Amino acid sequence: MNCLFCNIIKKEIPSEIVDESNHSIAFYDINPIAPTHILVIPKTHIASTLDIDDNNVIYFSDMVLLASKIIDDKEISRDGYRWVVNTGKHGGQTVNHLHLHILAGRHMSWPPG
Ligand code: 5GP
Ligand code: ZN
Repeated sequence: MNCLFCNIIKKEIPSEIVDESNHSIAFYDINPIAPTHILVIPKTHIASTLDIDDNNVIYFSDMVLLASKIIDDKEISRDGYRWVVNTGKHGGQTVNHLHLHILAGRHMSWPPG
């Protein structure tokens, strides 16, 4: 299996790493859609939210904690921010390795397109 984000974890594809924890790594999105656009991913291959289960939910918890730490460190909580996890075709998922988008630095509208 050739997974883009697994290759980023293995450092076979370069990325601008923001922070990491035991189970997660965060890096800047290559095509930012907000002044701050960071992706947080598990260090193991989980394809999407559809594959989260009792055995691997610890990875998702860890992603949430790392995302919260980054938000604290970067002081982006004051004006608010958005977390997004896209799943499948209708969700707009383009990379089949679970990832949490942190979007901040501008006002975001609702509903999403
Ligand atoms: P999705 O659309 O699956 O929710 O999000 C995938 C994200 O991965 C997109 O925002 C896209 O810009 C980002 N992305 C795709 N390829 C790369 C890459 O090689 N490096 C980085 N840093 N981000 C990428
Ligand atoms: Zn992967």
